[in-house]
Amino acid sequence: MIIRRARTMGFCFGVKNAVRLANELVSSHSGPIYSLGEIVHNEALVKEYSKKGLKVIAPEDDVPVGRVLIRAHGVTPDVEESLRRRGFEIIDGTCPLVKKNQLACQASTLPVILFCKHGHDEAIGIAGHARCGCICIEREEDLDDVTPGEYTVLVQTTFSSEKLERFLWLLKAKGCTFTIQGSGICPASRQRRAAVEELARSVEAIVVVGDENSANSTALYNLASSLLPGRAFFVSGPDRVTGEMASFPSVGITAGASVADDLISEVEERLGMLSLDDK
Ligand code: SF4
Repeated sequence: MIIRRARTMGFCFGVKNAVRLANELVSSHSGPIYSLGEIVHNEALVKEYSKKGLKVIAPEDDVPVGRVLIRAHGVTPDVEESLRRRGFEIIDGTCPLVKKNQLACQASTLPVILFCKHGHDEAIGIAGHARCGCICIEREEDLDDVTPGEYTVLVQTTFSSEKLERFLWLLKAKGCTFTIQGSGICPASRQRRAAVEELARSVEAIVVVGDENSANSTALYNLASSLLPGRAFFVSGPDRVTGEMASFPSVGITAGASVADDLISEVEERLGMLSLDDK
């Protein structure tokens, strides 16, 4: 079996930055250290850092005061403020692109329309910065809540570009006027999607390495499934690789932005081993 890696995959610069800050925290050995939510959507990595002392907490957890890492998705100003008031030192790992969306949301003197995944932490963090209201739109029917008027439009960094194009057209058709602000769709997501499209042209099946909670990994899997129906697979680690995945003459591998190189290599190795077992 031939295994081909996508040209671009795995850790993006936002996640690399958060992991770098986590490394600094765990090697500082002074006082309690926390990560506000899982540092990345990657179970193995979260476990590794938890062993090194980085405890995952929720904003309301009653824990001894210490230093707390805000991950790449960012948080609302209220959460940050409440932690500061309680005496926590904030280590801000918010991705610069997410930060740009947060600041644009805060600066808007118009109501904001945020194209995003409902309930996603990044979207909650951005919406929490709005001063004149924020309407979150994930599906076409959500646009029913939008009345004609003037808006600032923001886009969650992992939103689908196809959906975005259609939704902007529908907004205009509803009589809304708007300017698009913030960072838009993250180039890391675009590059990973383009690499999957390229990969799908040269392999029979694609294995996507990622966590089901990760928006960008799920988006990669959905894309792979649309390009190779019934021949795209989603795995969180090497133990999830099956004989079926290794039964194709050629298999492509890609990975979401929260997946470390080691995990990708382990999945690749497992695929290779299973394909040999098949002989
Ligand atoms: S996917 Fe893009 S926006 Fe999200 S953390 Fe990575 S670089 Fe930042």
